[in-house]
Amino acid sequence: MNESFWEDLQKITKNCFVQEKMSGHTTFRAGGAAEYYVRPRRAQVAGILSLCREYTIPWLVIGNGSNLLVGDKGIKGLVIELGKEAAGIRAEGSIIKAEAGAMLSSVARVAADHGLTGMEFASGIPGTIGGAVVMNAGAYGGEMKRIVKKATVLTPEGEEKELDLEELQFGYRHSCIPENGYIVLDTELKLEPGDAEQIQEQMAKLRSQRCKKQPLEYPSAGSTFKRPEGYFAGKLIQDAGLKGFRVGDAQISEKHSGFVINRGNATAAEIAELIRQVQDKVERNSGVKLETEVRFLGEF
Ligand SMILES: Cc1cc2nc3c(=O)[nH]c(=O)nc-3n(C[C@H](O)[C@H](O)[C@H](O)COP(=O)(O)OP(=O)(O)OC[C@H]3O[C@@H](n4cnc5c(N)ncnc54)[C@H](O)[C@@H]3O)c2cc1C
Repeated sequence: MNESFWEDLQKITKNCFVQEKMSGHTTFRAGGAAEYYVRPRRAQVAGILSLCREYTIPWLVIGNGSNLLVGDKGIKGLVIELGKEAAGIRAEGSIIKAEAGAMLSSVARVAADHGLTGMEFASGIPGTIGGAVVMNAGAYGGEMKRIVKKATVLTPEGEEKELDLEELQFGYRHSCIPENGYIVLDTELKLEPGDAEQIQEQMAKLRSQRCKKQPLEYPSAGSTFKRPEGYFAGKLIQDAGLKGFRVGDAQISEKHSGFVINRGNATAAEIAELIRQVQDKVERNSGVKLETEVRFLGEF
């Protein structure tokens, strides 16, 4: 442990921890510990990055950990969680400004309260708006790229920059954020005026569809694999005879074959091995190579 780094980090915020178990910060409920973990406010992020540069401490950012698999050997360096400490939301006309840590469900609620439509698709995705911009999260025919106007990011050098829609380079579950090492600090969404009651009804309808179709009673990271062009990952997995397939406590959900679930005590190694075997078997059965949507972090 680097004592000087730790002391200086605590001068910026007391909201920091050492050897923090990542199973408590990921919806898979698996994975080892982060060497250092911090949950800063927006205004503290630049100072923390500067400290990491000074002490050459590697860092990475997470939101709600709903699309992550962290290795059992944990994460070297600092994990910066942009979550509930950086979660301000403000509506101005048809624009919603949200800090990266705001949950999609909360942003969608504010939109609905202001009679703004366009965000209903995202109301049941259990991530932050920052994570959703990074992933270009989407569901039920909607995607972040249709509603994001711009995002403020912090570059690895500590400079704040505004990126417009074109600069964000959204694609299927892709944006330019990870490859540039940017941190999303906040986002502006452009929504449309709508009928508040209809918006609420649509959100409730989509939530109930999720409850019916997805194994929400188990920890998971949502759809484990990207949708291959022309196919559905869940159907390919089912056709390969893998519905319910298990490695230890990691399992292909019997309710939705596109989800890998944690039956209770799955290790990250078991989840990763299950994913590998599924990729292998699906490719042998159908010739289609499944790519993971879930991001792997840390050491396995
Ligand atoms: C039950 C369930 C259902 C789901 N349904 C959907 C769905 O319908 N559609 C969908 O698209 N996804 C879905 N997901 C996956 C996930 O919720 C989304 O990808 C979500 O956008 C991830 O947000 P997060 O805050 O949890 O990000 P995390 O999982 O914490 O991080 C995801 C990636 O973004 C990076 N990141 C996070 N925040 C920042 C930031 N502020 N700046 C820079 N990088 C950052 C991380 O380093 C990581 O690479 C589902 C997940 C679950 C568990």
